[in-house]
Amino acid sequence: MPGRWHPRAGADPVRGSRDVTRDDGHHSRPMTAHPSHSTPRALRVDPATGLVDAARQVPSPNCDARPDGADLSLIVVHGISLPPGEFGGPWIDRLFTNSLPPEVHPYFAGIAAARVSAHLLIRRDGEVVQYVPLHQRAWHAGASRWCGRERCNDFSIGIELEGTDDLPYEPVQYHVLSALIIALCRAYPTLSPENVTGHSDIAPGRKTDPGPLFDWPRLRALVRARYPT
Ligand SMILES: [Zn+2]
Repeated sequence: MPGRWHPRAGADPVRGSRDVTRDDGHHSRPMTAHPSHSTPRALRVDPATGLVDAARQVPSPNCDARPDGADLSLIVVHGISLPPGEFGGPWIDRLFTNSLPPEVHPYFAGIAAARVSAHLLIRRDGEVVQYVPLHQRAWHAGASRWCGRERCNDFSIGIELEGTDDLPYEPVQYHVLSALIIALCRAYPTLSPENVTGHSDIAPGRKTDPGPLFDWPRLRALVRARYPT
């Protein structure tokens, strides 16, 4: 069956369920910890198709050709949830496929006309969704700058984590993200595990995701532990 991918069991403890009531009045569902804990098996990326083998494919029309297909040098980490602070619904898929119904939530009305995408999404339970083939340009970064270069969409891969700035990400998301980074670097030698950054770092003052609770040292340690140098 195509699509749903779960990491196999591992040693990392996973937090239990909890209720979350947010300051802005949104009340999220209790988050259920993934039952299998988390050490992912290797993910595979096919450079010929630009697809991640185990990802659920939800093709987005919001993409185009990169100006220089050989110039792939950055991975950008994002955070997203729709509505903000709520997890598990179909709305991220709907946003990236231009089918978000504006009447469903007041927040949606303001973004339903946006034409945006990312290459990949890692949901709270570790599921991977792919919207754009990796050799195509996804529309995730907007006005941005990295190491003096503008328009990061041209040369980057955008990975969304389902989450918000003010909640910790799930352990399984770090494991899957580290596995993805390694798979991407193996498939595209111009990428490097050193060249992974946050949306807030390439669009400071405009974007805050993946947020201050994203644990960069944890991600880097996971990548280092699994990436043979
Ligand atoms: Zn972002």
